[in-house]
Amino acid sequence: MDRRNFNKKVGQGFLGTTLLAGMPLACGMENTQNKKKLGIALVGLGTYSTYELAPSLQETEHCQLAAIVTGTPEKEKIWADKYGIPKENIYNYENFDEIAKNDSIDIVYVVLPNSMHADFCIRAAKAGKHVICEKPMAISVLECNAIIEACNKANVKLSVGYRLHSEPYTKEIKRFVKEKTFGEVQYISADAAYFSNTNPNQWRLKRKLSGGGALMNMGVYAIQSAIYGTGMNPSNVRAQEFSTRPDYFKDTDETITAQFEFSNGAFGNIMTSHNANINRLFATGKKGWFELNPANNYGPLKGRTSKGDEIKFEHERQQKLQMDDFAKHILMGTPNVAPGEMGKRDMIIVEAIYQSIKEGGKTIPLDLGNMGIVSK
Ligand code: NAD
Repeated sequence: MDRRNFNKKVGQGFLGTTLLAGMPLACGMENTQNKKKLGIALVGLGTYSTYELAPSLQETEHCQLAAIVTGTPEKEKIWADKYGIPKENIYNYENFDEIAKNDSIDIVYVVLPNSMHADFCIRAAKAGKHVICEKPMAISVLECNAIIEACNKANVKLSVGYRLHSEPYTKEIKRFVKEKTFGEVQYISADAAYFSNTNPNQWRLKRKLSGGGALMNMGVYAIQSAIYGTGMNPSNVRAQEFSTRPDYFKDTDETITAQFEFSNGAFGNIMTSHNANINRLFATGKKGWFELNPANNYGPLKGRTSKGDEIKFEHERQQKLQMDDFAKHILMGTPNVAPGEMGKRDMIIVEAIYQSIKEGGKTIPLDLGNMGIVSK
């Protein structure tokens, strides 16, 4: 078996110890196969890492917080003390590439402003580490391609931080769609928006760092909802942008609406904004409807259907479920529920939406096939 196939087998959960003896392994793979818990390095210790990812990593079964990468020296001691991170597992953006030599790190989780995702994901792959890239995957399709290529070349796994694919309410929606519980979905409405109008200096409002406004930030959730709420990729899109606060939203989009058509005749509408609070998925078919509201916050989500049922699941941290799912994918070969192709597909749609707006709402055809659709 050549090295490439061997590593593929390791990724698929083929962990025969006889085979492992004396075998030269790719970078970073040496310890992965025998580990109970994979070590994660968080890159960027902002709000999401601090309040969601690090606490979730205290609850994960198949991975743990092993290392941190930060550009803020004051955070090093705070995190080291709080999470017992040894000095040799603390990196900054300059010496980050040294992680290649650190076997306690299996996965690099990039949690930086959007325009920095591609650089750090590619460097992580080159260091031989599996990669989780936060959403949106990057700020262009070209960058998504570069990340995917780097991960393929290094033979490491890649996932996007789309936590909802590991979350029970969203999984239930996918089940309704797959089993046609309410008939084939004919119309989908998905809104993902929050008020982001109190800090004009935040990077999310600076195009250079964010790549765009509401669409890049929350719009990807609405796009995701429209796709898993119908089980299909859209075949075309047209879009509109408007602003009620142009004085504040100077550099990035405030509010965008877009309409999708699907090849079976279904259609839908999405709305995303940095100037409203709304978080909802509604879908209707010939036999009834289902709704999640909220549909994409950290949960617990809430759902109901036309049958009069409330959808109800026990709440667990979504990020715990998400990171465990990715670790299981690496360790046991379970499906990658949010692969790089999914992040790239969403960026193709984002670019089509911006193009439609630029061209006065023109319908932009999309040729996505089943790209990024994971049937589990
Ligand atoms: P944040 O502003 O709270 O943190 C950003 C981090 O990046 C900080 O530690 C900051 O020091 C560091 N940084 C490095 N260079 C920087 C620069 N030039 N400008 C600004 N910050 C810089 O942001 P966040 O909310 O933690 O978001 C980080 C990433 O995570 C984004 O891509 C965002 O879309 C994503 N995110 C995802 C979810 C989710 O639910 N999946 C939730 C929140 C954020």
